[in-house]
Amino acid sequence: MDLATVAGALPPYHPRRLPRSLQSILTGPTQLNLCRIGGVPVENNYWQVNLTGMHGEPMPESTRDFTAFARTLRTQTIYDAIEGAIPFGPIHRFGFPCSVRRRFEALDSFPDCLLPLGDVICRFNPAFGQGMSVAAQEAGALRRLIEARTVDADPLKGLAQSFFAAIQGFLAAPWAAAENDFIYEKTRGQRPRDFYQRSKFSFALQRVAAEDATVHQIMSEVTHLVKPSSTLRDPQIASRVTALMAASA
Ligand SMILES: Cc1cc2nc3c(=O)[nH]c(=O)nc-3n(C[C@H](O)[C@H](O)[C@H](O)COP(=O)(O)OP(=O)(O)OC[C@H]3O[C@@H](n4cnc5c(N)ncnc54)[C@H](O)[C@@H]3O)c2cc1C
Repeated sequence: MDLATVAGALPPYHPRRLPRSLQSILTGPTQLNLCRIGGVPVENNYWQVNLTGMHGEPMPESTRDFTAFARTLRTQTIYDAIEGAIPFGPIHRFGFPCSVRRRFEALDSFPDCLLPLGDVICRFNPAFGQGMSVAAQEAGALRRLIEARTVDADPLKGLAQSFFAAIQGFLAAPWAAAENDFIYEKTRGQRPRDFYQRSKFSFALQRVAAEDATVHQIMSEVTHLVKPSSTLRDPQIASRVTALMAASA
């Protein structure tokens, strides 16, 4: 995966441009264009726009090409937002080889005074912006475990195994999001057995969310780890999604 990031000041308000209250914008990939482009407000009223390309997709080298590229996307929202923007630096590029999940929890034993945390356990596609949140959740779990062990004679004994068990719930949803990269034929690795069914659910959910702002908000909150993924199994949402899946079968 290739990431190209540029930050700058958006041009003054224009009717076609974004409402100032907007939190973020995202244009997802299509079958013809694997790139994903998203913008978020950052400090000093600047916006940061990130373009991610998969499997060697050509990436723009200059801010002019970047803007021109935005024009080729399925929708013009981001182009309308950034056309005429003033970048305050060059495009920063980052190459990300692959998402990785290390199954330390499956080992029979683990050294007592060693503890992996963060990306070394699970490294996600940064396009989804989840790695720091997961690392923070893991740090919280570690603190709770250490606090509970302060009275133990040997508090570090077996800490790693307890830690690995405690963090699996934090990894499930972001790892499932990373597994969406199996949608690309060139993605290597072990495709989950239920991937086809999951993808169908995910496509139908996105179609429901495109027409219902409440569902869209819940979907975004799950993606950004604010709500658990079980929220999407709420009967009111799940029934609409499965009805759409059945209709398009
Ligand atoms: C381009 C990009 C954009 C991202 N955007 C987001 C985002 O928007 N939101 C989000 O939540 N996450 C994001 N992430 C993911 C996030 O940055 C990581 O998940 C998070 O930083 C992991 O924290 P960590 O402490 O495990 O690793 P790191 O933050 O990588 O820290 C590891 C540290 O160890 C140091 N180190 C490495 N080897 C050695 C050594 N041998 N000796 C001493 N020190 C060493 C490194 O220099 C580094 O400082 C992004 C990642 C990338 C690459």
